[in-house]
Amino acid sequence: MPSTHQDNPTTLRLGSNVQDLPGIAQRRARLFARLGVHTLSDLLRHLPMRYERQSQEAGISQLQAGEIGSARGVVVSARWVAPPAPGFSRKGRFEATLEDDSGTLSLAWFNAGYLREKIHPGLVIRVQGKVKLFNGYPQMVNPKWEPLDDPDATPARDERLRPVYPATEDLPSTVIERTVADTIPHVLPGLIDPLPADLLAHHAMPGLAEAFEMAHLPDSLDDAGAARRRLAFNELLLLQLGIAMKRAFVRQRLAAPALKFTDAIDRHIRARFPFNLTDDQDNTIGEIARDLAQPIPMNRLLQGDVGAGKTVVALYALLLAVADRMQGALLAPTELLAEQHHGSISQMLDSANVSCALLTSAHPPKAGGHRKRLLDDIAAGKVDIVIGTHALLADHVKFNSLAVAVIDEQHRFGVQQRAAFRDANRHATPGADGKRHIPHHLVMTATPIPRTLSLTLFGDLDISTIQGLPPGRTPITSRVVEHGQSDDVYRYLRTRLERGEQAYVVVPAIDAAGKESAKQLTNVRDHTKHLQDKFCQGYKVATVHGRLKRESRERIMDKFRRGEVHVLVATTVIEVGVDVPNATVMVIEHAERFGLAQLHQLRGRVGRGDHGRRSLCVFISEPTTEEAEQRLKAIAATTDGFQIAERDLEIRGMGDFFGTRQSGLPPLRVAIIPDDMELLQLAQRDAQALIDADPFLTSDAHKPLRKVLLQQYGEAMGLIDVG
Ligand code: ADP
Ligand code: MG
Repeated sequence: MPSTHQDNPTTLRLGSNVQDLPGIAQRRARLFARLGVHTLSDLLRHLPMRYERQSQEAGISQLQAGEIGSARGVVVSARWVAPPAPGFSRKGRFEATLEDDSGTLSLAWFNAGYLREKIHPGLVIRVQGKVKLFNGYPQMVNPKWEPLDDPDATPARDERLRPVYPATEDLPSTVIERTVADTIPHVLPGLIDPLPADLLAHHAMPGLAEAFEMAHLPDSLDDAGAARRRLAFNELLLLQLGIAMKRAFVRQRLAAPALKFTDAIDRHIRARFPFNLTDDQDNTIGEIARDLAQPIPMNRLLQGDVGAGKTVVALYALLLAVADRMQGALLAPTELLAEQHHGSISQMLDSANVSCALLTSAHPPKAGGHRKRLLDDIAAGKVDIVIGTHALLADHVKFNSLAVAVIDEQHRFGVQQRAAFRDANRHATPGADGKRHIPHHLVMTATPIPRTLSLTLFGDLDISTIQGLPPGRTPITSRVVEHGQSDDVYRYLRTRLERGEQAYVVVPAIDAAGKESAKQLTNVRDHTKHLQDKFCQGYKVATVHGRLKRESRERIMDKFRRGEVHVLVATTVIEVGVDVPNATVMVIEHAERFGLAQLHQLRGRVGRGDHGRRSLCVFISEPTTEEAEQRLKAIAATTDGFQIAERDLEIRGMGDFFGTRQSGLPPLRVAIIPDDMELLQLAQRDAQALIDADPFLTSDAHKPLRKVLLQQYGEAMGLIDVG
């Protein structure tokens, strides 16, 4: 639909749609949309990826067919060729011939009758456009042109660098260039620079409008570089401000219970654990206990490889809450893992005076009465520790006094879910201090966060690390084999069964039904039968997957734990939490389909026994993409989760972590991490100084900054209720 803006471009604003620009029809607007450019603000932020020197003017004879070229010369003939007849679909065209010392160039502009008034023989002009050969002679169709008053002068525009934009076949860089150039005069004058002037002066950075202009229409590469630096700084500063403001917010407006911590409590809790803690576990517990003793909500990430022993650390934190007569909750991403945690934690708390309940959404309706009672008990504070899945986040789950909230495998949850859990005391009334009371927060992950990322994305978290594995772990041998060798793999698997060991086989699909492509995949149903009949006669092969009812799943897992089931064919539901020391072999079918972190997690299911037998993980794969090959190479090369995380980051690229569900943050458009590390540190220092001086950026000088910050990061960072 044509917009009223069309006739009156002066009303164009940053928020206007690209379509509001004169001469941009719906079709072209759609092409822009495909590049993520919807508004003029998007267009302004669609920055060139590089610059080219404007094509050198060549003599006409040197023009290359197929390339953009420039030439100047004298118009020797010009004529208007009218369309054949009214109503005919063919267009009229204006034709001219340009001549210089070296040759002649024919020019044609379609539907350009107005050129009759402008271009006439004798005029010296300069043209630029794509060169074609027509009957062996060079030709340009619809070239850009300008009259040259003084034919010998070099126009200033010749020196210009041309921006090269990310483009598509239907929307070439040159069109984007023209559109941006048309837009800039309308939107830049009204652009408010959120950064305080003294800050810019201090870093000798250009203002925002200037930076955009320099990025799109630079006079020199130095200018373009300075523009990019300013725009990247802008982005990083906002990110760091968000993080710093959130910290300030937590300190000033939120409170958490300061939990009592004594030697007697420490002894009591440790007595529950069936083993001595490792030094790393001790250290992390120390860090956590110190945080919990403060009335400031803890926000801590515990990272440690698969099997590093994070669960007891979490349990320690939960028990500190219970020791102070408050509640703890543990959120797990799958029912299987919640059940596993509930089982092992209940076992450790056996005979202790602590009540521990499991809450998942899998409770069948007939147990509704039981569920109601459980919810009442949680609300009345009769349950000390609640372990559960997403069901814990439901609005009707009310805690009496939740002091410690733990999220296991946090990378499996989205930002909203994590925020909802943090808000688990939403039913509580504000304390006498006027602060909102929330539980302490501990999130755990087996996918370590590389340092560069922890500084950017996770900057509002304190980080504890368990570096090594507990004693008595058996090393794991990893092998990548091709699909054709799978019979050999399963024959070998049988020899391990004969020695009394157990195995997991992971496959990507549950059954063969469904999409054509899924038929090619090994699936749980067919593969179970295949293994049972062909390789595992005399042994029991069973299956687990996400569609099984909870009772069936628990029954099978129990049998596997007790050794009555020897081979477990599963989907990735066993990725987290399953802990059966006698299982020493893992086979992963279609390993090329899984992510690196996921493969590492899966492999972590084996190597848990201490009986000196080497565990084995076999990745069966079909060579596919380059990236898949890199992943398989990386997984075979090391079992160190920290190295794998770094490698994963290298393969996927940093940009991939922004804009993900886990980060919930908009992608960085300009800044490149780690290349812009120095700029990031600058931004971090500046952000901290700004927030120290004005925690919620409410002063007049900072209001524009605050506005942009809330717009961009308010929701993702939970800053909406700030001030
Ligand atoms: P993750 O960090 O992957 O969650 P878990 O907490 O599940 O690891 O621990 C993996 C296994 O190691 C469990 O069987 C647990 O009982 C055992 N474990 C944890 N800490 C120790 C320790 N200090 N000594 C011996 N075994 C331990
Ligand atoms: Mg765990």
